[in-house]
Amino acid sequence: MPSLFDGASARIEAALEHIEISEDVAQRLAQPDSALKVSVPLRRDDGRLTVYSGYRVRYDSTLGPAKGGIRFHPDVNADEVSTLAFWMTMKCAVMGLPFGGGKGGVAVDPKELSPAELERLSRTYIDAIADFIGPDSDIPAPDVNTNPRVMGWMADQYRIIRRAHTPAVITGKPIEMGGSAGRTTATGDGAFHALATMMERWERQADGTTVAVQGFGNAGQRFAKLCANAGYTVVAVSDSSGGIHNAEGLDIESLIEAKNDKGSVTEAEGEALSNADLITMEVDVLAPAALESVITADNAEDVSAGVIVEIANGPIASEADATLIDNGVAVLPDILANAGGVTVSYFEWVQNRQAWYWDAETVARRLEDRMVGATRALADRAKDEHVDLRTAAYIMALEKIDRAAAAVGTTEFFRARQG
Ligand code: GLU
Repeated sequence: MPSLFDGASARIEAALEHIEISEDVAQRLAQPDSALKVSVPLRRDDGRLTVYSGYRVRYDSTLGPAKGGIRFHPDVNADEVSTLAFWMTMKCAVMGLPFGGGKGGVAVDPKELSPAELERLSRTYIDAIADFIGPDSDIPAPDVNTNPRVMGWMADQYRIIRRAHTPAVITGKPIEMGGSAGRTTATGDGAFHALATMMERWERQADGTTVAVQGFGNAGQRFAKLCANAGYTVVAVSDSSGGIHNAEGLDIESLIEAKNDKGSVTEAEGEALSNADLITMEVDVLAPAALESVITADNAEDVSAGVIVEIANGPIASEADATLIDNGVAVLPDILANAGGVTVSYFEWVQNRQAWYWDAETVARRLEDRMVGATRALADRAKDEHVDLRTAAYIMALEKIDRAAAAVGTTEFFRARQG
């Protein structure tokens, strides 16, 4: 089986069939700038010591400091973190943010930890990577299974280590600690703006359009809620315990309640449905919002949705791309569709550095402007080049990085001087 990173490289290759970039840039992007592996020892409540593996990767910093989240998940590994950091590089470039890409994680199941253990783990992880991150070099944020509280512990630990307030080192903090208005809802909001922008282009209405959401964490919940409010019929939702289905439309508020109070959407009213069945069910819009590689060469042919909104990072394995394109499925790629989160992280970083805070309306307006602008630019490019939206996104990201690299000189420049 190809590694996750092989899949990422395949997407670069696909874009390079349409544009030329300097060989220097292609070579640089083939591996991360720097990758750190640390051990994260945790003293458990009962006195035992458990040592976890932690990672932080700065993939590329051509456009600015590395930027990207930290995830806590048992499957976290070096290949995954590197690939996620690569995707962040592309995402920040597509969105025109002054950042490169980074990512971090700890291979741990946070559900097995007490709140006090989770706090100690978060602080110890920052102790281990403190010299690797910084507001001008590498700026973490939340990702799978991490949230504002975890970011708060991490920012506080960084303050203790540096003996200075440096809120711009981490984004997604609680508002009280310098977090931005609108950061928690930003990923779901951004995905919704991307979908709404494309629906307008396709001259399609929300009314009568069905939606299924796989993964009901922060982004999946928000996206489902916005879709329901806008008149879409959200017919299925799932989380790691399974899913539920109602052809008439689910009540999103009661699903959010079931998830938060009882731990799973499967506790709410509706017909039971497996995660695998949700992916292939008859629906107009499918939004995978959990983890990587849920649509692969094995099930791509069975996908019935005409539109896929990639709210997770990497939910479609690259081997599935050709089948989906052949079947006319329009994919709103992760590096656009889930970019609302990092966009408001950028706003948070700007506010922290200026110590000047924006109100919720300003954040919402600026996020919408950026999402709509990026989605339109990408759709235009896809049309011009006769390519799918993902290839257009990679084309635009690679061009941007190429232009920045050329500004300081690439092989082509120095060769010309010699000759
Ligand atoms: N983890 C999010 C992502 O994958 C957000 C990253 C950030 O805010 O820096 O885009």
